[in-house]
Amino acid sequence: MRPDFAAALVDRQSRRQQQALQRQLQVAAAARPGRIVLDGRELIDFGSNDYLGLARHPRLIEALRSAAELGLGARASHLLGGHHSAHAALEAEIAAWIGYPRVLLFGSGYAAALGTLTALLGRHELCVQDRLNHACLLDGARLAGAELRRYAHADAAAAAAVLAVAPERRALLVSDSVFSMDGDVAPLAELAALANRERAWLMVDEAHGWGVLGPHGRGACAAAGLGVAQVPVWMGTLGKALGGYGAVIAGSELLIDTLINSARSYIYTTALPPALAQAMRVAVQLAREAEAERAALAQRIAELRAALAAGGWHLAPSDTPIQPLLVGDSAAALALAAALRAQGCYCPAVRPPTVPPGQARLRISLSAAHSADDVAQLVAALRGLQNG
Ligand SMILES: *Cc1c(COP(=O)(O)O)cnc(C)c1O
Repeated sequence: MRPDFAAALVDRQSRRQQQALQRQLQVAAAARPGRIVLDGRELIDFGSNDYLGLARHPRLIEALRSAAELGLGARASHLLGGHHSAHAALEAEIAAWIGYPRVLLFGSGYAAALGTLTALLGRHELCVQDRLNHACLLDGARLAGAELRRYAHADAAAAAAVLAVAPERRALLVSDSVFSMDGDVAPLAELAALANRERAWLMVDEAHGWGVLGPHGRGACAAAGLGVAQVPVWMGTLGKALGGYGAVIAGSELLIDTLINSARSYIYTTALPPALAQAMRVAVQLAREAEAERAALAQRIAELRAALAAGGWHLAPSDTPIQPLLVGDSAAALALAAALRAQGCYCPAVRPPTVPPGQARLRISLSAAHSADDVAQLVAALRGLQNG
């Protein structure tokens, strides 16, 4: 007899529940910057990627309002009449900001990674990736049918060993710049030197570095002095520090022409709403000039780290807004998140498979929208739980 889908799904669901790995949506209501409203209750939001506090910035709300005259949708894909002057202007302004020859907009970071990796790689190519790279990078290499080899986290020597095994194959070395669940920064200068030595290309995903790190928020690659010559495939997302939605790939004219012609997640999808692109132009300008926000963010990071280290908490080595508090057990991480929520702090527990087995954690993420008092409230709540 043919096995039944519903029975298989029920089986998987009950296994998730037994292992404290079941996930559930929570509905958030409108809230001020730095806050989240869940079940009608306002909490300090330590769960967002809105590092500069731009997502609900008054100037961006106003930009969105005045862009409303462009209408709701792009009506078509980029290649079939959907490529609006707002998209082109946003691409040019981003290219000027990050110092790349050309930039291409995608619907999301996930789509950008899948489209780019499948456009560059086939089954003859080698794709060498950090073990903790974001799911979209791993999925893109798999979808491309490339030989995917993962190396020990942030270990350039391990990456070198993998590349050395197949010197005759075209190879793409891929890394997050700031790791999304750990907050540490990849050894980008070493990876760039390795790629150069091995005649490989380097692709860096700046989802969590762009807007936050580097001169004028240009990202972790720029902070390491790397540009298009060292990082020929640069990826950034508009949904994190830039406070909006969408993503870009930056590179040479040749790379971008290749993507326009062969990245399936670019070709076979509707362009971003032009009004959103228009508002993102203002977000780019704000993020570029957000020195005060970056300074406030650095202060919040320093305050949290100092207070938690003094309290004996095990914080991972991170200087970025992503501050994971390692717990280990999934049920314990959920319980800690629930206890903090009862104290007014939203710090979501992150469990496998988002993180490796046995490494459940609270992913505390800080924002320029937080005040010193917000951080102090989180620290006091953690302290209370430690003692109680
Ligand atoms: C969020 C994220 C993405 C995906 O970007 P979206 O625009 O949200 O699809 C890609 N890479 C990393 C490292 C991310 O954190």
